[in-house]
Amino acid sequence: MAEHISMVHGSGGIATASLIQDIFAKEYQSSSVDAMEDAAVLGVNAGRIAVTTDSFVVKPLFYPGGNIGRLAVCGTVNDLLARGARPKYLTSAFILEEGASLEELRKVARSLAETATEAGVEIVCGDTKVIEGNGGIMINTTGVGFVDEGVEIAAAGAKDGDAILVSGTMGDHHATILSCRLSIENSIISDNAPLVEMVEKLMGLRVRTMRDATRGGLATVLSELAEVSGKDFYIDEESIPVSEEVRDFCGIMGLDPLYMGNEGKMVVVVDAGDAEAALAAMRKSRYGENAAVIGEVGAGDRASGNVLGAKIGHAFVRTAVGGLRRLAPLQDEGLPRIC
Ligand code: MG
Repeated sequence: MAEHISMVHGSGGIATASLIQDIFAKEYQSSSVDAMEDAAVLGVNAGRIAVTTDSFVVKPLFYPGGNIGRLAVCGTVNDLLARGARPKYLTSAFILEEGASLEELRKVARSLAETATEAGVEIVCGDTKVIEGNGGIMINTTGVGFVDEGVEIAAAGAKDGDAILVSGTMGDHHATILSCRLSIENSIISDNAPLVEMVEKLMGLRVRTMRDATRGGLATVLSELAEVSGKDFYIDEESIPVSEEVRDFCGIMGLDPLYMGNEGKMVVVVDAGDAEAALAAMRKSRYGENAAVIGEVGAGDRASGNVLGAKIGHAFVRTAVGGLRRLAPLQDEGLPRIC
């Protein structure tokens, strides 16, 4: 077998078939993929399904703690989880640039398969395209999950007095990718992780809203949730978990961890009466040991009205010195190709 991707791998002929057989079918071990059908036919019980799709273009492909294959599962699975869905099926479409290393492609496919197994999702179909370029690998995944009866978790779900939690330290993935790009050696590793176990443990509680704090970070997520729910969100700067390494890195680089992307962190809004139980459940879960209660949903006293009188909520951070700073969504591009 060749060592690099060439245009012939995208021809749809023998080279394409052998690429699929030698790499994807071998690493995925999926009967649906093995069958080489035009579409996977899946049994679905009556009820509600959740569907989401995401494309992954992270650069570099491999970084401390993960790679684009692991990321392509985590990003999509965590989006399903954010709606309270149980992730079940995943598709994987690869866009390969000419010159991509087959060895690297195999590692990516293997990691994607291993992470899918960890998350309990089955890879049911895929696609491969080859384009001209410089050896890049890009992946799109679509996820399908089931939403149980009675589960109503939505962005606008926050109620007055609810507690706001995050599942762990902020900024790790962003700091990892930026360190790689700048060839800075440090001990920061990406948090890319599927949060299946954590969300499972939360599902018996009165969870109103969940959102994974990816691009734009915690500040952007809270601003968006405040806006759509019409509530004010208050968080305490000192309660927000940030690792010492990331804090130091941010200090040197002049970055705010509240605006840095994560790939394995959930923001959870829960009825205040369930805050302690939610915190305990998160801390007991894999990837949740640094979970924290970071604030609460305000009574709306600061929410301003628009011309039609509808309430527009905002997110605020109470600073260590007793100030109140309004959080706006991330304005500029931030760091491109972080996910
Ligand atoms: Mg998301």
